[in-house]
Amino acid sequence: METLLLKNNIDDIRYAAKLIKDGQVVGIPTETVYGLGADASNEEAVARIFAAKGRPADNPLIVHLSDFSDAVNYTSAIPDLAHSLAERFCPGPLTMIMPKNERIPMVTSGGLDTVGIRVPSHPVMHAVIEQSGCAIAAPSANRSGSPSPTSAEYVLRDMNGRVAAVIDGGQSEFGVESTVISFESDDAVRILRPGAITREMLLEVCGEVIIDHAILNEVAEGAKVASPGMKYKHYAPKADIIMVESRLEDFVSLVGSNYGEGVYALIFDGDETDFPYRYLTYGADSSEQAHWLFQRLRELDDMGAEKVYVRAPSAEGVGLAVYNRLIRAAGFEVIRI
Ligand code: AMP
Ligand code: MG
Repeated sequence: METLLLKNNIDDIRYAAKLIKDGQVVGIPTETVYGLGADASNEEAVARIFAAKGRPADNPLIVHLSDFSDAVNYTSAIPDLAHSLAERFCPGPLTMIMPKNERIPMVTSGGLDTVGIRVPSHPVMHAVIEQSGCAIAAPSANRSGSPSPTSAEYVLRDMNGRVAAVIDGGQSEFGVESTVISFESDDAVRILRPGAITREMLLEVCGEVIIDHAILNEVAEGAKVASPGMKYKHYAPKADIIMVESRLEDFVSLVGSNYGEGVYALIFDGDETDFPYRYLTYGADSSEQAHWLFQRLRELDDMGAEKVYVRAPSAEGVGLAVYNRLIRAAGFEVIRI
């Protein structure tokens, strides 16, 4: 199967919507990263997503709706707090886990009796949902374990011949996947995956926001986790990633004493004036770092990097999402100087 590259226009969006209605899988731009979308209620279509990605069957898919009011059709109970959060953050990069109903098959929910609901703000994703009339199950559009794609080109590199089509909607805005939360009580939520909707933002609506332990810590084999995605190797390019928490001078000496063929660095914008080795930069603040991180990890592979020393980002605000992705890309290998 040849994968069609579609454009961001109404005819192509209608065509993509028809493919989805017919049970096919389409790469779709969203404001977070590119997703691989299929009809969330069609078991065969959803099975095609898992096959295209090589995704473990117990890792559930997020279900995307064009409006939060549609959530009643796919869930069996919606907490009041979810309505308040939706009012403030939907459409946007927030996924809320709720009990599912029978319209979400077990393949979609990875065998769980819950479903993650998100209302994306990207006009293309929004239009594909509306035109298809489907709730769209969509994980990130990478092969399982690789960095999430933030451009149509990188979706094609992973998915060419594996999905029906990809819509080119340009570079993703946020660059990291949605914030995933579950409900702990009437007034408290737990962050299972950090994203652009930060703990501080959630605290504008919730009394308490718990950061799950697995966000910054390695999960022991066989341990029980709140979100199956926490168990798996994630976001890793081919190169070996080493995170370094240090001042710039110490980072420069560390790279210098380990320098050789295939060694690269990923540094902050502004570091380069004092940096004598091969490098790419990934922004000056947390939002820029979120925007560029996955793109840079893929570019480093394209450049033939074998070992990459990365300056560790701040873990504050949106930085928590960047830190969480990087520490997984690094397989929890962190050097602190
Ligand atoms: P991705 O599809 O690549 O954006 O990853 C989705 C993430 O959301 C994974 O880490 C999943 O484990 C998590 N997730 C999706 N649905 C649920 C659910 N019902 N319960 C817990 N975690 C979920
Ligand atoms: Mg993913």
